[in-house]
This record gives sequence, C-alpha cells and structure tokens, in this order.
Amino acid sequence: MTAQIIDGKALAARIRANIASEVTDLHARLGRAPGLATVLVGTDPASQTYVRSKHKACNQAGIQSFAYELPATTSQAEVEALVEDLNANPEVDGILVQLPLPKGLDEEGVLSTIHIDKDVDGFHPINIGRLNMKGRPPLFVPCTPAGVIEMLDATGVTISGADAVVIGRSNIVGIPVAALLRNRDATVTVCHSRTRDLPEKVRRADIVVAAIGRPEMIRGDWIRPGAVVIDVGINRIEDAQSPTGSRLVGDVAFEEARQVASAITPVPGGVGPMTIAMLLQNTLTGFKRTHGL
Ligand code: NDP
Repeated sequence: MTAQIIDGKALAARIRANIASEVTDLHARLGRAPGLATVLVGTDPASQTYVRSKHKACNQAGIQSFAYELPATTSQAEVEALVEDLNANPEVDGILVQLPLPKGLDEEGVLSTIHIDKDVDGFHPINIGRLNMKGRPPLFVPCTPAGVIEMLDATGVTISGADAVVIGRSNIVGIPVAALLRNRDATVTVCHSRTRDLPEKVRRADIVVAAIGRPEMIRGDWIRPGAVVIDVGINRIEDAQSPTGSRLVGDVAFEEARQVASAITPVPGGVGPMTIAMLLQNTLTGFKRTHGL
C-alpha cells in the first residue's frame, strides 16, 4: 500500500480563501473587519518569524492585525496590563500571546488574563478545562490540534470508534489533540517519554498523531497497515545534499510509514500550514460571536 498524502498546504489555502471571502462580506455589512492582536515579549527569532507570518496571513485574509512587541525585561504586571487593554479594545476580537514567554514571566497568569471571548489560541484555563470536560465545548479550540482534526475530516477518516494513539502530552499539542479525539468518540491512548513499549502501543492505532519533537522517531514497522498518520513534529536535521545544509523532517520516518499507512501528512506541508488557517478561523469566529452571528 502507498499512502494518500494529506496535503495540508492545499487544505489550508482553501480554508483561508473561504475565510477571506466571508471577511470581505462581513466587513461590507458590519463596517469593520475582524481584528487580531499579537503580543510578543522578547526577541526569540523563531517567535518573531511565527508572529510575522501570522500578520501576513491576517493581511491576506482582510483581517486587521495589531502587533505589540515588548522587551524581554517587561514585568508580569506590564504584560497583563497590555492584555487588559486589548480585552477592552472593541477593534480586537482575538488576542494571541506568543509562547514561550521569557523566563521569569508566569505563562498561566498571562493566559488567564485574556478574556475568554478573545482567547483565539484556546489556551485560557477555562477553555482548556471545558475542552477536557464532557459536553462543555470551549469557546475556542487550540489552533494546531484543531488543524489535526480538520485534516482527518477532510480526508474522510472515521474518528468515532477508532483507536487513536497520540504521542506527546504537551499543553499546546498532545493534550488538546487527545481531548478532541476523545470528544469525537475515539478511544485514545496518550503516550509520552515514560511510556513502555511505544512501538507496541502505536501498532494498535487506527489513527496515529505524533507530537514529540524527535526527528523520524516513529518507524514504518510501528504503523498498523492502513492506519492514518498525522505528523505534527517539525525538526531541522543536517543534510549535506541540501543547498542550505539542512532540511525539515517530522517525528515519523515518512518514507517508511507511507508504505504502510493509508494516509499520511508530509513535513513540511502537512500540519504546519493548518495552524495559521485555524488561527484566522478562530479570529473570524470571535468576531462573528461579538456581532451575534
Ligand atoms: P514538547 O517538547 O512540549 O512535548 C513533547 C512531548 O513528547 C512530551 O509530552 C514528551 O513526553 C514526549 N516525548 C519526548 N520524547 C519522547 C520519547 N522518546 N518517547 C515518547 N514520547 C516522548 O513539544 P510540543 O508538543 O510543543 O511539540 C512537539 C512537536 O510538534 C515539535 O517538533 C514542534 O516543533 C511541533 N509543533 C508543530 C506545530 C505546527 O504548527 N505544526 C505547532 C506546535 C508544535 P514527556 O511529557 O514525558 O516529557
């Protein structure tokens, strides 16, 4: 079997085009575009790149974006005061605090300050708590996990009743992905660095979600024939053949796994592009909710 490649880039482009056309419509009707505010504390180059690409995507979708950059020396009270201002700003429908925050700042304190109606990253403790409860949908679902589910749905994968194995239990990816799959009636096993006999756990899965951050750790012979593999990992490895001397790979050994799986996401071009598409979607959802739509 050679797996269907789940093209996240194409799917994200379709979603973004739909968002842009809805935004154009709503802007004309309501006299205002949705607005996203980003808060970047410090000068981490990866975070700067992520924030820049979020603004670019907003711009392309007709969403207003407001960039706030604070020095790494900013105090907890100052970051929270900015978030409070944004909570009160009627032009801002979504607030995104870029993580990780510099050492010394309390992430949970900052995230708890965001009004849950503007929590487009879905990391407010109330939204996360609701996501993990039965029958209490959160106002927003974290973007990368939402992208994972969107890809499964777009591929026609039946989630209900499936055995799903999520490798990784971070607050940003593993835990919310597991909650979303469970809420869609999958039977979910969450694996982590202390899991015994990981290959055996993965072999049970109809759906494998890898969110580990270890290049090509999941091997092809761990995958049950016909399983669907979603690779969230983004790892840079050395590659003498590449003009830049390096290339990106996922947490799954793609060439091996594609021989066994029924469908698989590539890296790059899989889950990555979906994250920003879901952020735009959440911002639009917040805007519509503000207007009672
Ligand atoms: P974290 O480092 O926060 O979490 C990694 C998880 O993997 C932990 O739960 C850890 O277990 C587990 N783990 C580590 N080593 C092993 C092992 N040997 N066996 C089993 N489990 C292990 O990472 P993130 O969740 O933030 O990110 C994971 C990957 O996804 C990264 O490559 C990141 O770059 C990528 N990513 C991609 C995004 C996208 O848009 N596509 C967005 C966010 C992340 P334990 O809890 O026991 O330590």
